Amino acid sequence: MSLVVVGSIAFDAVKTPFGERERMLGGSAVHFSLAASFFTDVRVVGPVGADFGEAEYAVLHGRGVNTDDIERVDGGETFFWRGHYEYDFNQAHTDDTRLNVFGDFEPKLSEASQAADHLFLANIQPDLQRGVRGQCGGARWAGLDSMNLWIETARDSLCQTIAGVDLVFLNDAEIRQLTEQPNLVRAARSVMDMGPKVVVAKQGEYGAALFTENGFFALPAFPLENVIDPTGAGDSFAGGFLGYLSAQDDWSSESTLRRAMTYGSALASFNVEEFGTERVARLERDEIDERFEQFRQITALEAPATA
Ligand code: AMP
Repeated sequence: MSLVVVGSIAFDAVKTPFGERERMLGGSAVHFSLAASFFTDVRVVGPVGADFGEAEYAVLHGRGVNTDDIERVDGGETFFWRGHYEYDFNQAHTDDTRLNVFGDFEPKLSEASQAADHLFLANIQPDLQRGVRGQCGGARWAGLDSMNLWIETARDSLCQTIAGVDLVFLNDAEIRQLTEQPNLVRAARSVMDMGPKVVVAKQGEYGAALFTENGFFALPAFPLENVIDPTGAGDSFAGGFLGYLSAQDDWSSESTLRRAMTYGSALASFNVEEFGTERVARLERDEIDERFEQFRQITALEAPATA
């Protein structure tokens, strides 16, 4: 099974209360690809500039990610994001966004990417996301992530794009903002009314909630004592979730989706333990399985003893 992802491929400058990095590999498609690569074959689509070098490709190749559809723009500069976090890690403060090569990006997927079984539209301009969705008409399912910027500046386009996907990943505040509905349960229902079968509300350090037509499931974030940099947690969550789902036949069953939630939470928890891609790049599959088991233990609930 294969999974193609289109999204930002970036250099990030990040400062948290625990340190800073002036220039590290990042971007929504990169964090997603690395996390998904533990479960399925991943192809990443997006533009980079001449400054994107061997060291950056090596991180992706080290996890077996196919980079044939990374478009290198001669003389261009890679997308750049600068942000910082204060003690509340749920709130990223953006200090600078330079679209650079993304400014003129028109995604043209290779035949191999168009034929991928599954598609993830990571966070980029919704018109671009829809263009890619149109090129992957045969995908068994498609997922999407977005952000407040597009809800504020391209709402109609985003709603049209959401109508064409099966699974939506958004922060809880973004789901409320998009639907103008303060109650999260009703807000998730409103997103499903647009078309998707599955809505995942990401809640940062509080975990994530899964909404389906007839089901609900929620998981806390893994209780870590050391969280260093939350950048990319949302994309790592989606990567773990959809990477696992991509390898399952019965992708829409409640039990499969609950396991996907757990793999997503596990990958997000590793991502935040160090800066950028540092931790996930050297992660091993048995560490993921161990954390899955720990999730099972911390969420197990016995019925009360009967009198
Ligand atoms: P998250 O998983 O939400 O923490 O996403 C973090 C990644 O999103 C960073 O590595 C950034 O490079 C990337 N990013 C930040 N702003 C944007 C944007 N406007 N469009 C696309 N990607 C972005």
